[in-house]
Amino acid sequence: MAIQAVRGMKDLLPPESPKWRFIEATAREVFSSFGFSEIRTPILERTELFSRSIGEETDIVSKEMYTFSDRSGDSLTMRPEATAGVVRAFLESKLYAVPGPHKLFTIGPMFRHERPQKGRLRQFHQLDCEVLDDAGPQGDAELLVLAHHLLERLGVRQVTLVLNSLGCPECRPGFKQGLMDYFESRQGALCEDCRRRLASNPLRVLDCKQEGCREISQGAPLISGSWCEACAEHFEEVKRLLTMAGVSYETDPKLVRGLDYYTRTAFEFKTSQLGAQDAVGGGGRYDGLIEVLGGPATPAIGFALGVERLALLLEDNPEWQKGPALFIAALGDEPRDWAFGAAQKLRRAGVWVEMSAASASLKAQMRRANKSGAARVLIVGGEELTAGRAPLKDMATGEQQDLPLEEIVNRLMAAGA
Ligand code: AMP
Repeated sequence: MAIQAVRGMKDLLPPESPKWRFIEATAREVFSSFGFSEIRTPILERTELFSRSIGEETDIVSKEMYTFSDRSGDSLTMRPEATAGVVRAFLESKLYAVPGPHKLFTIGPMFRHERPQKGRLRQFHQLDCEVLDDAGPQGDAELLVLAHHLLERLGVRQVTLVLNSLGCPECRPGFKQGLMDYFESRQGALCEDCRRRLASNPLRVLDCKQEGCREISQGAPLISGSWCEACAEHFEEVKRLLTMAGVSYETDPKLVRGLDYYTRTAFEFKTSQLGAQDAVGGGGRYDGLIEVLGGPATPAIGFALGVERLALLLEDNPEWQKGPALFIAALGDEPRDWAFGAAQKLRRAGVWVEMSAASASLKAQMRRANKSGAARVLIVGGEELTAGRAPLKDMATGEQQDLPLEEIVNRLMAAGA
């Protein structure tokens, strides 16, 4: 049998690939307009980086990582998320010596050994933004406005921003104790994982997907009841700035990111369009992480959006389906030579031009032109070439204009598309 791709890892092929290019190009444009610079970190990192930052207790570290010993006997892991690698690079290159905020983005593959299904793969791709050395609520709001703006530009609708605040080292211990007391008296009904988690991090119980645990979580104390004044103010300010920017949101006091280093703002972008995989992206403030990884205390916030899920949501956006600006149907050798020259000239100016072999019949060429999704079709035969004019058809309106060949080329070159 022919060798097949690894389960949960997919090839990206046309016609899907233009959609991805559209997503990535739009993201790069939006990230730049918010002043983000690109960072690329290796796919392989030392396993310890993830076990220390994401935490041994999490599903990602305990069940989902692609970990192996390399030929030198070092334990390496294929990154399951981007933040840890970005923070490691930030520390290793001593970027922190320069005053922040440092706004960084990265786009690339992540690896988790999960059960594959629609919108869930073992190699998946994320658009990831991190802002390091920025403590204020304005940083949170700006990042959320960025994500909102990107979704809008992609034409992805029916996505809800869900927000919460997870408190800080001042107020969270009290909340954790309250949770522990609540769950301890109901331990019998919790799943095995949660019973284990209870002692180390009861917040993770709130995140458990098991039916029994979810039911019990319904009645658990809410973090909003424990916020200190500074956390409550921070959250109010984030919400005020979002409202001012016209970004709508919902709050959910049950939304948690169950890792100790998460502080204050936590959020998810949710959709009802993707069945069980309802998160398009998520993130939050992680003021404690950089210290956990051995760096100076540095407040930071970030998010990741999943490219596969965005691609599923962008089915109908005509933007990414754009075809060539011009299709030249040439009939005969001389018109073919003219078309060949004109196509090169236009392509050099960045205009996407297609043409077919001049030996094909007009009918066959028109069929190809239609299939290509070209915006315009130019039909050039011997007569047109002698006259120096030819009909240019706008494929969207069906309108046809008889124009000088030179003018057609110049117009398209000037438009650059
Ligand atoms: P997380 O790092 O788990 O918060 O994930 C952030 C985003 O990455 C999610 O909202 C998804 O869009 C995407 N994502 C996470 N895991 C997968 C996966 N296994 N397959 C596809 N997309 C994923």
